[in-house]
Amino acid sequence: MRNTYLAAVDIGGTKITVSIAHYEGVLIKLYQRVKLEGDNTSIPEQVDALIERACRRIGIHKKDISAVGISTCSPFKIKNGYKVIVSPNLCGGLAKERGVIPNDWTEIPLEEVLTGKYPRVKSGNDCVTSVVAERLFGAGKGEDNLVYVTWSTGIGTGIFVDGHLLKGKNENAGHGGHIYIAEDGPQCGCGNFGDLEALVSGSAIARDYGEGATTEDVFSAYRQGDTKAKKVIKKAAYNFARGMASINALMDTQLFIIGGSVFLNNRDILLPLVEQEFFKSFPALTSGVKFTPSALHTFLGDIAALSLVMPDEWIEKWEHDRPWENAPPAVVLEDNGNE
Ligand SMILES: [Zn+2]
Repeated sequence: MRNTYLAAVDIGGTKITVSIAHYEGVLIKLYQRVKLEGDNTSIPEQVDALIERACRRIGIHKKDISAVGISTCSPFKIKNGYKVIVSPNLCGGLAKERGVIPNDWTEIPLEEVLTGKYPRVKSGNDCVTSVVAERLFGAGKGEDNLVYVTWSTGIGTGIFVDGHLLKGKNENAGHGGHIYIAEDGPQCGCGNFGDLEALVSGSAIARDYGEGATTEDVFSAYRQGDTKAKKVIKKAAYNFARGMASINALMDTQLFIIGGSVFLNNRDILLPLVEQEFFKSFPALTSGVKFTPSALHTFLGDIAALSLVMPDEWIEKWEHDRPWENAPPAVVLEDNGNE
């Protein structure tokens, strides 16, 4: 397995990154705006083309890729035995606000298209792949009961219980951003009113403060003692803690690993507020639970996708060498194929 190459793919609402790795580390990383035009195979075809270009640049052939690991926004549905993406962030036919996404797709047959082109393809929701990576290489090493949470423009979770990764019927287990918190709350991008994401995401913090402020503006105002910013951020942190208490009540977890830019940029403010509220919840269930920041943070995209397909033989070496920290910077590709 040392002479094999793996492709890692990270698909978000705005960009795709593709990396190629071998036993020694990451060899190349390409970055391109996600193509939302054309038919619903545009994204799988773009992924294939990016892998091929990355291979060419490092002097290997596409046939040398033994497996492709994909970390993507979701949800999924299972169709003909393959995982299909049904995300309103990519599929215009599912988006609530028509016209924002320039296509009418209702599903993206990612696995099916790529499985015809590569020997092994595995995909997972970005928070599910992140919990796998954090457990192998990050803040969750050796822990069998853990939850990874991203606190960013959205909220998502990936969950291990008793050492088992929770998947569910459509592999949508862990969509913790869409659990209900408040009656008559604001609307989430998913259509729910008053769910966790609608109340505490980075966008929700900016919306609640108003005045055209960005999320980071609200945190800056908090640091300068602004009363409204304090009120908005405390409310978000307390609601986040209530969401985590609900997840903990169901999962009986040991460790919450929190990532995402909103949390990681402001953990000095957020972590004490979250802990203060969380531990008010039923002590028999919450006592002893730990919160910790993601250990992989900015590297998470690559390593999360690779974690899905990494051979056992590589894991020990990667754990020791941490080669993702020395990965080459991403090469940004223009949409027209130039770079
Ligand atoms: Zn939602």
